[in-house]
Amino acid sequence: MSQLAMTTQPVFRFAPSPNGRLHLGHALSALLNDRMARKAGGTFLLRIEDIDQTRARPEFEAGIIEDLHWLGLDWPEPPRRQSERLPAYRAALDRLSRMGLVYPSILSRGEIRAAVTKAEAETGEPWPRDPDGAPLYPGRERDLSSPARARLTEGSKPFAWRLDMARAVEAAGGPLMWNETGEGHECEAGTIEADPAAWGDVVLSRSDAPSSYHLSVTVDDAEQGVTHVVRGRDLFYATSVHCLLQRLLELPEPVYHHHRLILGSDGRKLSKSNGDTAIAAYREAGMSADALRALVLGDQG
Ligand code: GLU
Repeated sequence: MSQLAMTTQPVFRFAPSPNGRLHLGHALSALLNDRMARKAGGTFLLRIEDIDQTRARPEFEAGIIEDLHWLGLDWPEPPRRQSERLPAYRAALDRLSRMGLVYPSILSRGEIRAAVTKAEAETGEPWPRDPDGAPLYPGRERDLSSPARARLTEGSKPFAWRLDMARAVEAAGGPLMWNETGEGHECEAGTIEADPAAWGDVVLSRSDAPSSYHLSVTVDDAEQGVTHVVRGRDLFYATSVHCLLQRLLELPEPVYHHHRLILGSDGRKLSKSNGDTAIAAYREAGMSADALRALVLGDQG
């Protein structure tokens, strides 16, 4: 074992976004994080990912804290709130910008869709899609001159800072790997080769939202000394982008553990709007915290 591994205190985190009540899938994530932290003799942190101020609401944050305490979880107070960390995300974006790896982009989601439909009609070929099924950004503004960029960032239309993926992968200077301890379909344990290019030119920040999920999660995991990222399998492929940002920003690489998802009765991933699977709904129906823990941890209990 290296000197670093011997002296590093294991740190785990549960990082919900306060835009709804927690459901059974969140309970599984939080409980697994807590259990793995205890086993490793480490710390369990709570991080409130309230970067999207259009969706984050204080009552949801209060509900999350109530549900987690009811489940028997505790963390060092106060929890980290991403809305309080904007200068750190800005500094990371500025660093990538100085490296020549970001550009301002102006197409809205609707305009991207229209451009992609047009290109598909013209070429007869399907436009490449990211692992979530969204079309890759066409990247028109990648090579704009400095004055044209300035006109764009100083204009009145909202814009997004995007990572120039091809340049970023080149700047990474070689293969990117992560250490995965999750298991099961699509989530084999072992060394996984990251493929950030599958995501195209991802958004790092918008003129109306100061940081993206990818940027803030990577910066915070490093700054909080997170050694183990335990989260749902739906974020497995996103890890490729996080590995790339870690390499570019010279940040440490946590171990990743992507766990199974709890699916709704329709076989689909639970969302915060699934009121019937909210932890609070089970509590209000009289279920004990012990019974809920057993229900979600199941064979992992
Ligand atoms: N905030 C993200 C969510 O609620 C989770 C981020 C993570 O665990 O990396 O889905």
